[in-house]
Amino acid sequence: MRKLPYSMKYLALSLLVLLLNCGSSSTEPPIERPKPPIAEAQATDNGSQSSAPPIRNPKSEIRNPIPDGWTEITALDPSIRLDLRYATSNNFVKEKMYDCGRCFFRTTVAKALVKAHKALQKQGYGGLKMYDCYRPRPIQWKLWKKVPDPRYVADPRKGSMHNRGMAADLTIVDKDGKELDMGTEFDFFGKEAYHAYTELPKQVLANRKLLLKTMADVGMKHTTTEWWHYSLRNGKFGLADWVWDCEGK
Ligand SMILES: [Zn+2]
Repeated sequence: MRKLPYSMKYLALSLLVLLLNCGSSSTEPPIERPKPPIAEAQATDNGSQSSAPPIRNPKSEIRNPIPDGWTEITALDPSIRLDLRYATSNNFVKEKMYDCGRCFFRTTVAKALVKAHKALQKQGYGGLKMYDCYRPRPIQWKLWKKVPDPRYVADPRKGSMHNRGMAADLTIVDKDGKELDMGTEFDFFGKEAYHAYTELPKQVLANRKLLLKTMADVGMKHTTTEWWHYSLRNGKFGLADWVWDCEGK
């Protein structure tokens, strides 16, 4: 065993004396308390938000004038009626999603829809009424945030025909602007909205058939589960993010 040098022995002895003589309260080293759990870190780790992609700010995507290849349908034909549900809280998420209601499509689609609208007018109807048109992807993210369920909302990473400006949600109105009876409301999620569902009054089936034929005649195809949804049969367009301007609207 090594001997401690004298100075060290003296120091140790002095410390011992000091400890024995002094009141315990003043010299006791502070008791180190166990650290509380790091709630913030745990919250971050467990929170589902951490892996969700960021929501893009629609304001940053605003374009005015509108991009090439896009057309506002009412500029082509102002007699087309608009009831853009996502510009109001009258929709299935019960929240206003668009700052204002404007209806845009790829120009090819807008032209096809105007053709269908005019064909209906020739038959004595008021024409088409739009429920939803181009839906910018930042809005798709907003919808997805509220309803992250692909049965009801398209995953914005994949996007939908609406995000490409190729789809319209619409119905037919009579000459007084009253909607034809299609059996269910727009955005009714259930088999009654399917094209294959036929347990409906004859007039409803006839109205749906009229919409289907009118749209097919201008190159628009239906989807099996929503009587109101039509998209361009031929043609490819990319997903789009631009959001229309609401100044003065
Ligand atoms: Zn649709």
